[in-house]
Amino acid sequence: MTSNPSTEQLHTWDSQHYWHAFTQMQEYEPFILERGEGVYIYDIHGRRYLDACSSLWCNIHGHQHPTIDAAIKRQLGKVAHVTSLGVSNPTTITLAKKLVDLTPSELDCVFFSSDGSSAVEVGLKLAFQYWRQRRDAPSDRRDLYLAVGNAYHGDTLGSVSVGGVSRFHAMFSPLLFDVIHGPCPDTFRVPPEFDLDADDPDSLRQLSKYYLDEYRKLFEQFGDRIAAVIVEPLVQCAAGMVVQPAGFLRGLKELTQEFDSLLIADEIAVGMGRSGTLWACEQESVAPDILCAGKGLSGGYLPMAATLTTREIWDAFLGEYSESRSFFHGHTFGGNPLCAAAALATFEVFEQEKTLENAQRQSAILKRLLDPLLDYPHVGDVRVQGMMAAIELVQDPHTKAGFPWSAKKGYELCDLALERGVWLRPIGNVVIVMPPLCSQESHMREIVQALEYALRRMWS
Ligand code: PMP
Repeated sequence: MTSNPSTEQLHTWDSQHYWHAFTQMQEYEPFILERGEGVYIYDIHGRRYLDACSSLWCNIHGHQHPTIDAAIKRQLGKVAHVTSLGVSNPTTITLAKKLVDLTPSELDCVFFSSDGSSAVEVGLKLAFQYWRQRRDAPSDRRDLYLAVGNAYHGDTLGSVSVGGVSRFHAMFSPLLFDVIHGPCPDTFRVPPEFDLDADDPDSLRQLSKYYLDEYRKLFEQFGDRIAAVIVEPLVQCAAGMVVQPAGFLRGLKELTQEFDSLLIADEIAVGMGRSGTLWACEQESVAPDILCAGKGLSGGYLPMAATLTTREIWDAFLGEYSESRSFFHGHTFGGNPLCAAAALATFEVFEQEKTLENAQRQSAILKRLLDPLLDYPHVGDVRVQGMMAAIELVQDPHTKAGFPWSAKKGYELCDLALERGVWLRPIGNVVIVMPPLCSQESHMREIVQALEYALRRMWS
């Protein structure tokens, strides 16, 4: 009976039974997407939308890419699932080696999970257990994490503990463990005592130093207790595409070295080419001790995430079974071979289609097209880093004061852009523009035209 529901049934069931993420179900209006092709996605009425949010920041090579589809089908012809608990399979082994080859040389070992939040949980737990099991310093029992202000690392309680987006996280604060939060290394809203010239690299370097000095103070105070520092390298996406000043990531890495701590780089949103290089860390020549990847890892096709570590961390978990030094953590579908096949095919397409080169070209085009939007009355900032961009709406351009979140200005703008066939999602007053990395100039124009249409409708 339920195999071919009517459109009306789908609408009714969708609003009554399907609890959507980050969605007020009382106001939800069904938006039911049925089919994707390249950078476009089609709803059940056959209407076409440009997927300018990459289906929540994860699609890389477009929908229904023949190479990825074929790889998944080939794997289906072998086996759909093999657990990672004491068992292996050729596809996931090959992916582990591929990841080790494609990440900084210090990263040698891969732990798979099914989503970004879990990859972060794994990174946090590995760091914690590592300090308890280091053979050379068994009494070093670090119990704190240092997180960056306004960070977002996922929605599970561990990842929320190291997060700092209060609109999402404040509700759960009684449930969270203690974490030290440093300042948010923002380049748009800078501390009042700092006079930034955003076009001057020197001024940005000084801003970076300003923030790093604050982090140094935290290290001086808590250094011997900090198990790891966790950071979204270069751009804090869910904070509203906060772009960090150049040198911040490098400086944070140096602090972890000076104070003998670990650096966890959460590359879940910025990795897989999103920032303009395969990993954002590359841009500051940083090799983290732990790297979390997700979202685009499977091309945005299937739920897969990975936590990479150094050999030194791996070694701390070795020992006789009776010593109980294993990592007692595992997700049913971690390392699933269908997901691994999609991920391997994703890397293959990176080479075939020279995806990084295209993304860098399109990023420059996107910046050129988006910058003129600053002339619209309530556009306070335009930020572009690789294939991640944002326009921030402000109530008052002089003070940079935002609209109250309850005014839903970001949503209003996205709804209007949808009328023009461009699918975007906002975070508060920030409209995030993240098209698939395979997008071409015509797609960039389509996106910016829809934004212009929406801005004109809102404020002309
Ligand atoms: N880290 C970052 C930086 C993210 O942006 C996200 C998700 N937006 C996550 C972690 C969590 O990933 P997931 O939604 O796959 O759990």
